[in-house]
Amino acid sequence: MPHKIARVALDVPLPRLFDYLGDELSEADIGRRIRVPFGRKEVVGLLLDIADTSELPAEKLRSVIEADRQLSPLAADVLALIRFCASYYHYPVGQIALAALPTALRRWHFQLPRPRQYFALTAQGRQALPHSLPPRAVARQRLASRLLAGAADSAELAVLCNGAAAVLQDWLDRGWLETVQEGINAPAPVLPQLLPGQQAACSRIAERPHEFAPFLLHGITGSGKTEVYLRLVEEALASGRQALILVPEIGLTPQFTQRVSVRFPDTRISVLHSGLAEGERLQRWQSAANGKSRIVLGTRLAVFTPLPELGLIIVDEEHDASFSQQEGLRYSARDLAVFRARQRRVPVVLGSATPSLESWQNALDGRYTLLTLPVRATGAELPQLRLIDTRIDKPEDGLSRPALKAIGETLARGEQALIFINRRGYAPVLHCPACAWVAPCPRCSARLTLHLREQRLRCHHCGHEERIPADCPACGNPDIRALGQGTQRVEEALARHFPDARSVRADRDATRRKGSWEAMQAEIHAGTANLIIGTQLIAKGHDFPELTLVVVLDADGALFSLDFRAEERLFAQLLQVAGRAGRADKAGQVLIQTGFPQHPLFSHLLAHDFPGFADEQLAIRRKGLLPPFSHQAVLRAEAARLADALAWLQAARALAPEMPGVEMFEPVSAPMLKKAGHERAQLWLQSASRTDLQRLLREWVLELRDLPARNVRWHLDVDPAEN
Ligand code: ADP
Ligand code: ZN
Ligand code: ZN
Repeated sequence: MPHKIARVALDVPLPRLFDYLGDELSEADIGRRIRVPFGRKEVVGLLLDIADTSELPAEKLRSVIEADRQLSPLAADVLALIRFCASYYHYPVGQIALAALPTALRRWHFQLPRPRQYFALTAQGRQALPHSLPPRAVARQRLASRLLAGAADSAELAVLCNGAAAVLQDWLDRGWLETVQEGINAPAPVLPQLLPGQQAACSRIAERPHEFAPFLLHGITGSGKTEVYLRLVEEALASGRQALILVPEIGLTPQFTQRVSVRFPDTRISVLHSGLAEGERLQRWQSAANGKSRIVLGTRLAVFTPLPELGLIIVDEEHDASFSQQEGLRYSARDLAVFRARQRRVPVVLGSATPSLESWQNALDGRYTLLTLPVRATGAELPQLRLIDTRIDKPEDGLSRPALKAIGETLARGEQALIFINRRGYAPVLHCPACAWVAPCPRCSARLTLHLREQRLRCHHCGHEERIPADCPACGNPDIRALGQGTQRVEEALARHFPDARSVRADRDATRRKGSWEAMQAEIHAGTANLIIGTQLIAKGHDFPELTLVVVLDADGALFSLDFRAEERLFAQLLQVAGRAGRADKAGQVLIQTGFPQHPLFSHLLAHDFPGFADEQLAIRRKGLLPPFSHQAVLRAEAARLADALAWLQAARALAPEMPGVEMFEPVSAPMLKKAGHERAQLWLQSASRTDLQRLLREWVLELRDLPARNVRWHLDVDPAEN
């Protein structure tokens, strides 16, 4: 009898499947985890195919050890998605397959965590809880409002509040809470009457629920996009289907999760993000895969979640760079979401106040249906934006006089002000005024950032850290100083100007400490803090009702960046942070300090005119044949010495097949030459035709894999998101 050949995806950097004898396997096992010998080890793989023949003679093939029959096989559409990724991103299929599985399943033996525990408020708890929490206990209030909506399980609650387990235990002890069986009916939530724009968007999207239909939902912050998502999810659930919602970050914006879970208290929701413990992730993934979970709410990797009854995909903040994975398999979760929607014939909604120019152009071309929400749903006014010309009003310690005045007035009215610092152009460095020495990272071409409070110098590219030297290492001058305004310098200056203000600093450093981000948000909500100093992350989806003034300290770095996407990002960021001001009944004010007030970006920004900005940027892109009017790929190489990386790229270039429609540039050094001790170079490819580019890459990558790369590491980045 002829053998059956199992074709198995393994986590090895080779772009192919591995053949084994698998006589006990059948077609029905495709998608199962398989245990196989590999070299002298045993490894876990994924069965992707059963064949009759192999290129290798049967006596050379080893046998499959066993198949995992405890879990259902991975669904065919997820396998197809994995194969698509492999071919589109030119990345080893086995590495994608294993990365798409929850980490716990990458080892043979795994344990499903204990079944979920469900909690419901007792009558006593319903009575007591709303009055027992101080207003500043924002996270506990999130827990409470979720439980007031109905029973919830521990996993879901954990997302809403740091240290949820301890709080729940406390409430159990007080008799406010009891553990229950799943499925206690919750009261129906009260829904707002949809505005005409929302209504129109909902009906358009729900028109043909069984067809692939991509939508771009454009609406400023507060225009009611989330409400539209929720209605669409509701319809999908009502017709017995599952919904996939992708968001850029979960940990920093638990409000979004709360809104979804309060709206659907009876529905099992799998919240998937990178901070989960292995077992927890497996549990939630499994629950989505077997159809118990009806909503998957997750960050980029969640796009690979098996969803047997998928009926709707939503990508919120679709322009956000977090959807692009920058390590290993470099993929765009937004693009894959659209692929999945096409594959499963379901609607996909990309939502944003500042869509990516790729999506915007797709809408202009009619490939996506553009839906616009024109007004703020709460009726709140748009914040007023004004520029402060720093050539006239010279900032001192980063702050100009008009900015200081506005901050003073805001605080005097008892309202809150946010000082927004664009990190990119604004890292404080250590500098010697005598010899112009600036503290360098020994491993990168970056400069070290000064962290005065911890008395450390830190590299934000490679993580290198060192102590602050007592005097200049170059000339011995003991008077070395900070240059540039980091959050801490601004904080000190603000403390001098407003000694009575209660300030908090919200940046990555501050949020890295567990729980401190929660505490900080609580202080802001409760009004304990009235002066907020923050970087990018504060711009994301927070709703602070007393916040009426935003001051943007320096936007100029991005205006003249090498990266052609820098302006697009700046515009999105500034509009997003402006959206923080005056959301409730108070009008907001936004002041932007710039030395280039005549820059066209600002005229569109001041008019809240995204379409105008997009038109202008797209005209530039069209002229320069940049994306979305062309498609790019970049081959990157790094080595101890730049010359080696360049030489390898030069050799690689010589191997490229002829493809008239594809332009291939010369190898160059990367904008940031050194990173983590390696010197980096790159080679760009560009084509008006995605097909031509892909055809070239397919042939080329085969050659590249055979090109000796001693001391050189390389990878290919398709549709690169960064220079
Ligand atoms: P976005 O997601 O675009 O920022 P949201 O959906 O969060 O907008 O809506 C902003 C605010 O307006 C929220 O507080 C929401 O509850 C409220 N809201 C949304 N739609 C309506 C509506 N139709 N009527 C009244 N309030 C609404
Ligand atoms: Zn010096
Ligand atoms: Zn470094």
